[in-house]
Amino acid sequence: MKKQFDNFEEVEKTLIQGSANTVSSLRCPSCGSPLVVTYTEFSDKRCLSIKCKKLCYRSNIDGLKEEPPWVRSLGNRFETN
Ligand SMILES: [Zn+2]
Repeated sequence: MKKQFDNFEEVEKTLIQGSANTVSSLRCPSCGSPLVVTYTEFSDKRCLSIKCKKLCYRSNIDGLKEEPPWVRSLGNRFETN
């Protein structure tokens, strides 16, 4: 169980800092389904919302210091492969 939790942390860490290539291949650590990732930015707040396509996992990350590197090429919302 702990390992799975670590994997979720790893996915979140990757989404904050990863390149477009890296994040495109991420999968739900629990069921292996693609993830739907949305980046939102308003005034000074930046957040990520992550959702497993089978809805077994959802997460919101607030307070990002900067725009994640992949937003430039993938846009504000993408689904992993
Ligand atoms: Zn899942």
